[in-house]
Amino acid sequence: MYKIMTAGPSQVRENVRNARALPCTNPDIDPAFYDFYHETCGLLSKALHTDQTALILGGEGILGLEAACASLTEPGDRVLVIDNGIFGKGFADFVKIYEGVPVLFTTDYHEPVPLEALDAYLKKDHNFKYATVVHCDTPSGVLNDVEAISRLLDSYGIMTIADSVAGMFGEPLDLGKSRIDILCGGSQKALSCPPGLTMLWVSDRAFRAMEERKTPIRSFYANILAMKNYYEDQWFPYTMPVSDINGLRQALDNFLADPNVFNRHAEIARAVRESVKAAGLSLYLRSGMSNTVTVINVPDGITDRELLKEMAEDYNILISGCFDVLAGKVVRIGHMGESCNRKDVADTLFAMQKVLEKHGILLHCDMKEKFLALTK
Ligand SMILES: *Cc1c(COP(=O)(O)O)cnc(C)c1O
Repeated sequence: MYKIMTAGPSQVRENVRNARALPCTNPDIDPAFYDFYHETCGLLSKALHTDQTALILGGEGILGLEAACASLTEPGDRVLVIDNGIFGKGFADFVKIYEGVPVLFTTDYHEPVPLEALDAYLKKDHNFKYATVVHCDTPSGVLNDVEAISRLLDSYGIMTIADSVAGMFGEPLDLGKSRIDILCGGSQKALSCPPGLTMLWVSDRAFRAMEERKTPIRSFYANILAMKNYYEDQWFPYTMPVSDINGLRQALDNFLADPNVFNRHAEIARAVRESVKAAGLSLYLRSGMSNTVTVINVPDGITDRELLKEMAEDYNILISGCFDVLAGKVVRIGHMGESCNRKDVADTLFAMQKVLEKHGILLHCDMKEKFLALTK
């Protein structure tokens, strides 16, 4: 069994795995399951400081992104796709599938979306039904200020879909202070469940926009509106994955019981960045690094595949490569949720150093020792 230090999925705590083994009820019929689901969604809202409706859908994080676009997009709708990363740009595909017209606002992938530039752009063109933006764009690790971006978009009458799959529960996010209309999350990143669930937080304004559509939502499984009245009606459009949700509830209880989650992510992430730089390696980003993942340029003298393969085979540790425009260029250490602990991150830096040195790449310091000295 590998030590999982990837940019998601992350490690899963034993009590979450055990919760997934609890006896199963029939979730379509058992009123106690409706109460449990409703209460769990209430805790999801509480965790993000909002009273907006939260929903859990059976399907990996991508389902949430697609459901948000499917539910809001009507043919011909102009949608502003804020593109400063691979997931950011990827929203255009969902918009097109549902026959919206994506308009890309593209910025430098090495730093967060600059608010002034976005504001200047919107001054000239703000005829958009909604915009899409990513909180932590995992391939580069950039962290965008989605709270401020959503408020800016709102000031132009534009709704916001935000993907915080790889941000939430590792980076603070206050939905109550934002104007995000549909926030998307996933079970397998900083919440530290296995993959399989997506979470959505939906504003009243977004529900209204769905209800006022001129054309029906062109999906059954990705129709958010179909979930709106599940509790009043005691009816789900499809059978809920009970065991996955039992696991998610335990992970959420773990998160809510730990007041130190964000500090731990911040401390470990900072120490990883400092150690990597002190060793002479370079980070992909110039600024705006998320505390959930560190993205490192592949140094000369080794390929990403060699580094990943040898860390896995010789040290039993899995880290991530990358894809799309960053394929082969960077490797990524995930330090999110359960994987964000001092010992496993130190072991990861040790293994990376050993593999690099085996390939003749000499580092300026011992990354593990440096990291341990910078953390408590
Ligand atoms: C992980 C992730 C998702 C979910 O997508 P998968 O690649 O299928 O895991 C969506 N958005 C972001 C930013 C993610 O990091």
